[in-house]
This record gives sequence, structure tokens and C-alpha cells, in this order.
Amino acid sequence: MQAVFDGHNDVLLRLWQHARGGTDPIAEFIEGTDKGHIDVPRAKAGGLAGGLCAIYIPSGDLVLRMPDRNGHYVTPLSEPLDRLPSLVMAIELADIAMRLDRAGAWRLCRSTGEIRRAMADGIFAAVLHMEGCEAIGPDLAALETFHAAGLRSLGPVWSRHNVFGHGVPFAYPSSPDTGPGLTEAGFELVRACNRLGILIDLAHITEKGFWDVAETTDQPLVASHSNAHVLTPVARNLTDRQLDAIRESRGLVGLNYATTMLRADGQENAATPLSDMVRHVDYMVERVGIDCVALGSDFDGATIPEEIADAAGNQKLVAALRSAGYGDGELTRICRENWLRVLGEAWHEAA
Ligand SMILES: [Zn+2]
Repeated sequence: MQAVFDGHNDVLLRLWQHARGGTDPIAEFIEGTDKGHIDVPRAKAGGLAGGLCAIYIPSGDLVLRMPDRNGHYVTPLSEPLDRLPSLVMAIELADIAMRLDRAGAWRLCRSTGEIRRAMADGIFAAVLHMEGCEAIGPDLAALETFHAAGLRSLGPVWSRHNVFGHGVPFAYPSSPDTGPGLTEAGFELVRACNRLGILIDLAHITEKGFWDVAETTDQPLVASHSNAHVLTPVARNLTDRQLDAIRESRGLVGLNYATTMLRADGQENAATPLSDMVRHVDYMVERVGIDCVALGSDFDGATIPEEIADAAGNQKLVAALRSAGYGDGELTRICRENWLRVLGEAWHEAA
């Protein structure tokens, strides 16, 4: 079994939503459920040892557009969110993360040393991530507080616009060059993350925003849950030029398990073979090298291949990669070491 540290999940949102329906989110995570993708029993079964856990505020108006008869679709961007309700919900999601830590259900980690200790202890190593920073505010007034609460990674935007920048829509086929990039506040946010040691995630940002971050940040370039645009030309995937920039910065791209981002036809369809996942890994390894490819499942945030089904099926991908020729040393890097390297760099840990 290869222990996996994974670059993106939305388990906090699922637990928050179930909590509103009267379920105890801590018990659900510890005891397990058949809903969604991640809990302690399924993570253990699939060797999912930890990952970046998103504080993500969903858009109420988001309805994915059905493909037309050519298989093309463009879902319009959701409306920008108001700050105050976003802040309230972000605090509630962070609260669940801290309650899980207090209960020993997972360990909230702030350094790669803490991640390694949690994994060695067999406790899920959670790192707090913010996917779209509506809760932070244009003056960054809440950034230090979230950092103190354990926030160690953030994407300035999700797939909508906010005060920091512009996100890409869910569209096929589409270039990621769909609009403007960072705002002035967005550049300030990037500089603040560099100072504080918070990883900047380029998933969901426009191509212009990608280059804006690239020319501003002192960190390796990281897209936590994105795939190769040349294989699946959705706006969320990365062009060869973007992949080349990731390689040059010794950054990382995390394989997204969302079928819309894996399949050549860009469709949401659970009957997607593991070979589509392997194809993206092969291509990205070829393009950026074995040290810059990792995993970013999007568990609890996307329709994923039915062969994986949930966190318990994670080793099926590892087995498929092994069958495709990846050795133990390569799998170790893809499954966890590449993530630990870039996190250590972004967090100013001495090598
Ligand atoms: Zn996402």
C-alpha cells in the first residue's frame, strides 16, 4: 500500500451540510458513512493518509449546463458572493476542522513534520486550505486569523470572480484564457501569502491570473487539482505552457479525479476507466517530470470514476499506475513526497 497525501478534498463541506441536517459531523467522520467519499474507515482502507481540506463556500446558483448535441457546454460563472455570509460559513467549516482535531478524528497539521508524524501515527493528516477567498476581505483583514487557525494553503478564486481575481467557468471545449487575472488586492494577497508562508493554489484561476501569480510569487507554482488541457480541453485544465511553467518553478500539478477533467469528451460520467487517469498522469509526467506530479482527488467535490468510488478505492489508481510501469520510488513521489516537498518550500521550512 502506498500512503497517499492528497491535494484536494471537500469533506468539510459535506460534513457541514450534513450537520445542518442534524447529523453529528464528528461521528460521521469517525464512524464512517456510505455518503460522499472520505471518512476514517474509508481513508484507512484506501491508504488515504492525509490531504488538503478545503474551506469552500458553494454557489447557490450553480447548475452545470448539459452538453449540446456536439457535446459542448458552457456553464455561466456564478454570481460573486457577499463577504459576510462567506465569512460566517468559512468559520463554521474551520470549526468542524478543529473539532475533528480535538476529537482525535484527524490531526490538523501546520508543518511537514506534523504531517509525517500524523501519517506515522495512522491519523489522517489534514491541512486547512481555502478555495476562493471571499471570507478574507479585500483588505486581508481576516488572513492572520485564518492563518492562526491553521490555514496553510489558499486559492485566491474559485470558478467565479471575487475581489482578488477571476476564475474559469466549467466549459468544454474552452481555453483557460477566459478573462482578467488578479486584481490589485489579489497581488497583495499573493505577497502576503509569500510573507506568511501560505501555499498559493492556481486551480480555478484564469490563465491570466496564473501568469499574474507566476510573476509575483516566490513559491513553486502549484495547481492542486487540475489535469492536462491537451487531453481534456476544459477551461479548468492546464495548457502545455502552464505545465512548462510548473516544471520550471519545480512546482506541482495534482491529478483531479473529476471525470469532466479526465475524459477526452469532458463529460460527467462515472463510467470512466482508470486508463483515463493513467493517461493524464503519463502525459503530465512526460511534460513536467516525476517530481512535479501528484494527486489532487477532489474527493467529496466531484463525480469520480466508479472503479475508485470513494477513498477506499484509492489504491486502485496506485495499482493501475504500477501496471503502467511506475516503480515504488516514482509512486512514492506521486503519492506523497512531491506534495510534502512543495508544502515545505511554501511554508519556509529549511530543506
Ligand atoms: Zn475545486
